[in-house]
Amino acid sequence: MNNSTAATLKPQLYEPGDGARRHPNDDNVAGSRPSLPGPTKLRALVVEDSDADLEFLVRALRKGGFEPDIDVVQSAADFADRVCKNRYEIVLADYGLPGWNGMETLEILRREGLDIPVVMVSGSMGEIKAVECIKQGAADYVLKDHLTRLPHAVRRAVADKQLRDEHRRSQEDLARSNRDLEQFAYVASHDLQEPLRMVATYTQLLAERYRGKLDENADKYIHYAVDGALRMQTLVHDLLAFSRVGSKGTALKLTDCNAVVEAALKNLHVAVQESGTQIIRSNLPSVLADSSQLTQVFQNLLGNAIKFRGAAPPVIRIRGELVAREWVFSIADNGIGIAPEQADIIFVIFKRLHTRTEYPGSGIGLAICKKIVEQHGGRIWVESEAGLGSTFKFTIPAGGEPEEIDFLE
Ligand code: ADP
Repeated sequence: MNNSTAATLKPQLYEPGDGARRHPNDDNVAGSRPSLPGPTKLRALVVEDSDADLEFLVRALRKGGFEPDIDVVQSAADFADRVCKNRYEIVLADYGLPGWNGMETLEILRREGLDIPVVMVSGSMGEIKAVECIKQGAADYVLKDHLTRLPHAVRRAVADKQLRDEHRRSQEDLARSNRDLEQFAYVASHDLQEPLRMVATYTQLLAERYRGKLDENADKYIHYAVDGALRMQTLVHDLLAFSRVGSKGTALKLTDCNAVVEAALKNLHVAVQESGTQIIRSNLPSVLADSSQLTQVFQNLLGNAIKFRGAAPPVIRIRGELVAREWVFSIADNGIGIAPEQADIIFVIFKRLHTRTEYPGSGIGLAICKKIVEQHGGRIWVESEAGLGSTFKFTIPAGGEPEEIDFLE
């Protein structure tokens, strides 16, 4: 046992390995290799004030295949001090010590930002208290007259914690690799711009100066080269725009979506006029957002609704509804629609369902919408059938009680 200033109980009782066989492989933590014959080391902090109960607890752990290495505390201050200075695999807390209760154990761990599983060990604990403990974050609870269940509860709590750690690590790895990829895309597209500009400029110059002066094939080849260079410039420009989304960090402010849609429509003024588009719009809420990014989302979706129109002039309906603490915005058109099996692929960068001669574009618009919406904590999807128009929907968290949201009439 590590010497605990807080422990008034007999320390020699709980020395690790005391009376227990040691196994060459017993460095492993609880639950990781349950099939090994030797006991599993367990570093635990126990909140207990009874010598006898502590002994029963240690015996139960040993019987269940653990070699416990225990510190004992009896006050909140000592508990807080110990958990911050040591690496425990588990906390075993008596629910009702005179002066402080088990719930405080959970509060202290939360306050200190520590993820250590807590198993409540109690003489008697009503169902309500037990449920409350689990709700507050306890991994399990065990009654003192059923201590045979303790090793199982401990093993499961420690294994769950390991899973949480693994999950967190893979999330961090994923986030890091996404950041690296974005950085790569940014640097590559940024640095490609200059040499590409040279290629485009000089092939265009070739086309101007030598058109008709060489043979017919030469004109054709120069035309292909100019076309390819210009297309590549658009792609690189779009890729740069995509990797710039969010690179400056998103400043979220309460944003009036009516004003955002106005701004988007203003930018699309010519397309709206030329196509005879009719916009039907309900009053929209204010949400926490980066207003220029949100304008971009509406502009891309409205621009597509106009671009992918059918034979009839476009009619676009814009709505915002509060559904279960998030705003669901929808932009519904009467255009060419999308086959359901294509509904996911269109959000992938550079994915298009048509050739550039059918409809202009490079396939970046929806990928940018997705990135922006996800950075705001929302989702985006499309509900559509080919030939029957499309409804693009995206969510933005309401970020407070519905009545706190400033809904503009
Ligand atoms: P782009 O418009 O440049 O092609 P987007 O990423 O905005 O790129 O859209 C990807 C593809 O999704 C489009 O090429 C089109 O096939 C399909 N699409 C997007 N919006 C609509 C719409 N409102 N109606 C029908 N198809 C659409």
